[in-house]
Amino acid sequence: STPGGPKVKEEKIVVTVRLRPLSKREQSLKDQVAWECIDDHTIVYKPPSQERSITSASYTFDKVFGPVSLTEAVYEGVKNVALSALMGINATIFAYGQTSSGKTYTMRGITEKAVKDIYNHIMNTPERDFTIKISGLEIYNENVRDLLNVDSGRNLKLLDDPEKGVVVEKLVEETVSNDQHLRHLISICEAQRQVGETALNDTSSRSHQIIRLTIESTLRENSGCVKSFVASLNFVDLAGSERASQTNADGARLREGCHINLSLMTLTTVIRKLSVGKRSGHIPYRDSKLTRILQHSLGGNARTAIICTLSPALSHVEQSRNTLSFATRAK
Ligand code: ADP
Ligand code: MG
Repeated sequence: STPGGPKVKEEKIVVTVRLRPLSKREQSLKDQVAWECIDDHTIVYKPPSQERSITSASYTFDKVFGPVSLTEAVYEGVKNVALSALMGINATIFAYGQTSSGKTYTMRGITEKAVKDIYNHIMNTPERDFTIKISGLEIYNENVRDLLNVDSGRNLKLLDDPEKGVVVEKLVEETVSNDQHLRHLISICEAQRQVGETALNDTSSRSHQIIRLTIESTLRENSGCVKSFVASLNFVDLAGSERASQTNADGARLREGCHINLSLMTLTTVIRKLSVGKRSGHIPYRDSKLTRILQHSLGGNARTAIICTLSPALSHVEQSRNTLSFATRAK
């Protein structure tokens, strides 16, 4: 059951794919584009002619976005999931993909557009009173850290609350005064996020980041019935989906990689089971910190969208295929 949320019919997970442009660095290394979005739903493996021996493949999704697509368009694809949190339905939007594929770039844009939309909705809904709270956390090596209060330590405990479900002990929840304040708090979370250097991309992170908005609203008295809604909206920027062994990492990095894979592997199992539907049996939410924290914002009574980000580079084909096969299993 989902504390706080009304029952909604089971809906499939929204799965979209975003292919970024070839980066300057990839261009200077003479890397080549190996993928093409041939329409709004289909992405195909189209390697340069000398590589044609490799099997070509085509993948279909709710929506695919090519290298010239703007974040506005990508947001349109997940907007309904985001806005359902205004009606009391918990929602989660993920960015999934290998390091440097565009997860952070995309999630920042999506979060910004969602904030704008939420405040537009609030302006256009004078009959309700809204309260928005924000918390931000990072999961690094299966340790949870508060992004709004770095002094609270690096290993916050998860507790099972009979009312609220899984809660992170001591996690700061700031009440937001307006959209500008919210943007400011989000930028604090983003700035606090731990950055690890890997052989693939020195600005990318090895951690999972969750920015959670809790949106509460009450119908004003004079309308007769006072009806309350409360729901969480989670923006999740996942750690890179590549295996640790492919980043030429040293011992420490490999250890981090194993932990990251625990949360990611559990998430992929959970997503796969959810996409199968009611008959999927036991869903192992409790096997990782990430899935425990998101438990009530995933699955039957919640709405989920996954944006899979892809590098177009020929040198990343294997990782891109892995991402697309995750995306295929999720839909
Ligand atoms: P990740 O978070 O997956 O490691 P980033 O979001 O940091 O990847 O993206 C890697 C680089 O590619 C960044 O410099 C980012 O600005 C750029 N980038 C990512 N996606 C796009 C896009 N759709 N259009 C243009 N540049 C992009
Ligand atoms: Mg990133």
